[in-house]
Amino acid sequence: MHSPVFPDGADPTGAVRTLSGEALLATWERCSAGTPSSRALAMLCAGRPTLAHADAAALSLATRDAALLELHASKFGPDLSAFVACDACGERLEFELRTADIAATLQAADVSDTMMLDGVMLRLRMANTIDIAEAAAASDLEAAHDVLLARCTEGVNPAELPDALRDAVLARLEAMHEAAEISFSLGCPACAARQAIQFDIASFLWAEIRHAARNLLDDVHELAWAYGWAESAILAMSPQRRAAYLERVRG
Ligand SMILES: [Zn+2]
Repeated sequence: MHSPVFPDGADPTGAVRTLSGEALLATWERCSAGTPSSRALAMLCAGRPTLAHADAAALSLATRDAALLELHASKFGPDLSAFVACDACGERLEFELRTADIAATLQAADVSDTMMLDGVMLRLRMANTIDIAEAAAASDLEAAHDVLLARCTEGVNPAELPDALRDAVLARLEAMHEAAEISFSLGCPACAARQAIQFDIASFLWAEIRHAARNLLDDVHELAWAYGWAESAILAMSPQRRAAYLERVRG
């Protein structure tokens, strides 16, 4: 069993449902045509049946990603193995992360901040998925910054800020978000180069779900071909039962 990411009674996202059978395929289908942001929310809501889409979209990125880590743990176990290619020599650099540890780090970094600006108290909060989607739709980087400033600060109209103060607020927002990123560096055993890694749980979980869905589709195909059973009947079986029949089909 995985250990819960959120303390008792403090989980804003509801109970986790492990994605398997029809729920796994439905999630894969829904996510296939999505953007990275919509995919993150679709996976989260699929794994948390009581979480409304609008509430998921309003979760800060840190809390959203902590919840995605927990979803990953419920399906694939408490440790996550991944790899990247070394930028310098192409060697495969493998790493393992404990999802509960990273989720706890993200939760600790999920804080609002305040700053004094010309005698005015300004409140800053971490961006959520809606903020990021709106910023991504902006025409250029400057416009994207304006979107984030307007959405994530309270107490001042960002459009009226002089440039120096605007830069100071942006820098503070950036520092808040950097603290909630999953980043570390790896040394290459072949060429000794060090490489900075930025780990994105949403895209990693999506790759794992896609892989698991394709394996499940292969199993359904093989069993339907051999026995003539309906897809729904095969998906409703436990993984153990499917595996037992597949063993017989394969001799
Ligand atoms: Zn290398």
